[in-house]
Amino acid sequence: MMNLKNRNAIVTGGSIGIGAAIALKLAQCGANVAINFRKHSDEADKVVEQIQALGVKSIAIQADVSNHKDAKKMVDKVVKEFGGIDILVNNAGINWDGVIWKMQEEQWDAVINTNLKGYFNYISAVAGIFRDQKSGRIINITSINGLRGKFGQANYSASKAGIIGLTKTIAKELGKYNVTSNAVAPGLIETDMMRNADEIVKEKAIAEIVLGKMGQPEDIANLVAFLSSDLANHITGEVIKVDGGQYI
Ligand code: NDP
Repeated sequence: MMNLKNRNAIVTGGSIGIGAAIALKLAQCGANVAINFRKHSDEADKVVEQIQALGVKSIAIQADVSNHKDAKKMVDKVVKEFGGIDILVNNAGINWDGVIWKMQEEQWDAVINTNLKGYFNYISAVAGIFRDQKSGRIINITSINGLRGKFGQANYSASKAGIIGLTKTIAKELGKYNVTSNAVAPGLIETDMMRNADEIVKEKAIAEIVLGKMGQPEDIANLVAFLSSDLANHITGEVIKVDGGQYI
């Protein structure tokens, strides 16, 4: 088990799915964990209860990640309640698929504002703190579809590719302040996002996975815990796939 005792973390989109698994895993490693969410308030409360039962601090805040001011407010609140911030996991994301000739402006804007601007909002809220304290971990959840593109997901793939450029740039800008910035690129993972996908699209994706099964949220959480820990001190600017070989 990775040791994250006395570290303070924010996981965006921690009410369900991959974010909830990451929040729990970081807490199991000893970190205090704040999550935010938009809709699943009961689920967010359950995650907080599970984390607190582990003997560490936890809070849930309803905040749309695409709102720049709310990101700053959340970071301020976490610093006040926990006494600092050490780890940022940008995870909150949505998809709203459609082929490019049918994609509406609001589809494009919603996905880019949540998946890409949302990550910028939280990074910009912690960057000054991380720089001044000369430590910090930024972990951005992207997708293998940001690396290769995906039919029907121009908005989503563009947002996820953008996250990779953001991750590498932040690694360069904050590296000399002992801050690492890495991206985790999941393949198909069993969550609501995947359950709501079209059956044929899902079947095709599963057929690509060389290990022959979908990933679980915990598969992503394990890597995030590792990247948050001292074991990953010399890893930055990386994009690491967790996809059962789906990309190869
Ligand atoms: P889910 O739909 O299961 O969960 C998404 C989470 O993000 C929820 O907690 C949701 O909160 C939160 N969220 C969404 N929009 C906002 C917003 N505007 N403000 C705040 N919170 C928000 O998705 P997954 O767990 O599957 O996905 C998590 C991440 O992993 C995403 O970035 C996704 O793109 C990525 N990913 C997922 C893959 C998969 O196969 N599942 C594959 C590759 C990448 P609430 O519902 O409470 O609003």
